[in-house]
Amino acid sequence: MKKTFLYIFSFIILFFVFPALCTITPKNAEEVSGKENNNATSQEEQNGSNGENQSSGENLTNETTQTSDESQTNTETQQDGNSNDSSQSGYDYQKYKTVKLLHTSTGEVEELNIDEYLYGVVSSEMPANFEIEALKAQAVVARTYTIYQIMYNSNKHENADICDSSTCCQAWITKEDRLAKWDANEAESNWQKIVDAVNSTSGKIITYAGTPINAFFHSNSGGVTESSLNIWGGIDYPYLKSVETSGEDAYTQYNSEVTLTKEELQNKMKEKYPDFEIDFSQEGCISILEYTTSNRVKTIKIGNKEIAGTEARTIFGLRSTNFVVSINGDNITFSVIGYGHGVGMSQTGADALAKNGSNYEEIIKHFYTGVEIVEVNSLS
Ligand SMILES: [Zn+2]
Repeated sequence: MKKTFLYIFSFIILFFVFPALCTITPKNAEEVSGKENNNATSQEEQNGSNGENQSSGENLTNETTQTSDESQTNTETQQDGNSNDSSQSGYDYQKYKTVKLLHTSTGEVEELNIDEYLYGVVSSEMPANFEIEALKAQAVVARTYTIYQIMYNSNKHENADICDSSTCCQAWITKEDRLAKWDANEAESNWQKIVDAVNSTSGKIITYAGTPINAFFHSNSGGVTESSLNIWGGIDYPYLKSVETSGEDAYTQYNSEVTLTKEELQNKMKEKYPDFEIDFSQEGCISILEYTTSNRVKTIKIGNKEIAGTEARTIFGLRSTNFVVSINGDNITFSVIGYGHGVGMSQTGADALAKNGSNYEEIIKHFYTGVEIVEVNSLS
């Protein structure tokens, strides 16, 4: 009797319970991967809005940068690929000695040695008259960014690792074009300075917990950088925390203003919000409701709308979200401190630190919390 019962029990386990368990397992797996996909989607949406911010920032840069460089182009698109941070095992770091660069103007893909590629990036992203240690820091940041793109954003361009557009990937310029934009008497020495910055840091990248970081950078932090979480939400990168830097007020990128008439402000708001209304005779018709921990505008009320500081930056073409608003007669003035999203390395901050004696490793470790600078070939 006992034997028969055991036989029936085993039969039930074998043919009913076990198959049922097998079908449950994939279902759970789908739920998990579904969640990951949702995260990916929200990250992509987030990237899109930052891309817009970036293009407006860039236009401002090109119009107003005081140096002869068309430098300081910011890479606010660097949040691409955030969602893939967990899938980074099995990469062959040895293969990243070359980069397949897409020339966006011709559609051609050119394979370059990574350091030769970086000459064109660093000379686009930072003025050559900055301190050599700041340029070295920029070279390491750009190298890290490039490898991060190759690792996590390889699907962005079909046959290329990266393109030469600052609004999409990372700015890049040919040596000939770069030399032509500098004064003839300093062109060769400027180029040599960039080459030295890249070559003397060859193979060096920034890692956190053994993997390359998402190396955001911007033009001027206004004295204090912002955590990535406060700007974009999503992943709270442990190495992108708010830090203070002195000396950034000495740069032309520190202060700026945007003045609009009441009508212009209304038109800009209505482009985004057709039901926008404002009564300028009311006290507090424009008021900042909330600040981030680094004193940037988190939420602002304008008429009947409450919008994020980052959105106000986009709508009104402000250099950063660190601003105050004043109304004088028919004019509304945004007085802005700093330039860029404020996350990661501040370029002018890097230069200020270098002027005070910091080397490139100290600069990088100042802006990226808890990171290491390692030889790319040492990673596995
Ligand atoms: Zn691109």
